[in-house]
Amino acid sequence: MSFAVEADGLVKVFGNIRALDGLSFNIKSGEIFGIIGPNGAGKTTALRIIATLILPTSGSATVFGRSVTADASEVRRLITYLPEEAGAYKNLSGIEYLKFMGKFNVKIKGKLEEVIEDAGDISGLGERLHDKVKTYSKGMKRRLLVARALMTKPKLAILDEPTSGLDVLHSVHVRKIIKNYVEKHGVTVLLSSHNMLEVEFLCGRVALINRGKMVAEGSPENLKLESKAANLEEVFAKVVGFV
Ligand code: ATP
Repeated sequence: MSFAVEADGLVKVFGNIRALDGLSFNIKSGEIFGIIGPNGAGKTTALRIIATLILPTSGSATVFGRSVTADASEVRRLITYLPEEAGAYKNLSGIEYLKFMGKFNVKIKGKLEEVIEDAGDISGLGERLHDKVKTYSKGMKRRLLVARALMTKPKLAILDEPTSGLDVLHSVHVRKIIKNYVEKHGVTVLLSSHNMLEVEFLCGRVALINRGKMVAEGSPENLKLESKAANLEEVFAKVVGFV
């Protein structure tokens, strides 16, 4: 079987910090796969390697068969990346920002309008899309950025903490957006989160990582069954020996 993402023995060393310590995982096409773990576990580092933003110290990874190191420019054509702390141009309106970003990806004449319409629906911002981004709340900005990451129907969307900094209601909205969009368009998603309840709702399979290493992998249901745990937080605590 060929995978959407194959990561094999990823190691990343920053000075004397081993951010990733031999991380391997595979993601099937059309799947929402979550990398979860506590602060500093190596989630962002793993996502940035798959997004071709940093090089691994050793190990390898492919996206739809293309190497993230040797074929980085090809990989970039297949992916979108939402960083944890992303901003949008604050003096543009939401709709201007989406059009500006869409022009980089959408080369087919007449297609941009359709993509922007989709993005408007994804964001759920309605008339507020015509207001300047600087007037948006944090939650509205995040919705705009999630729309930007999904609107072009990338083969792989890489979302670092998609609901970072959002309150419960905005988080619920963003999760629903991601889930519905992926089911409808067959986009593959790699996301990170330290919110284990969020991950249970969204992900078909998850990798639990700690100190750069995989400590458990599987569907949330199976992980809970195997660890006799009520939720993924409890699974995590058990596998790392907190309880
Ligand atoms: P969080 O949930 O807090 O965002 P994370 O799981 O995404 O954490 P990473 O950001 O991948 O963790 O960091 C893993 C480790 O690598 C941490 O110890 C971090 O300090 C270190 N690290 C990450 N990037 C760098 C860098 N550019 N230079 C030095 N150390 C780094």
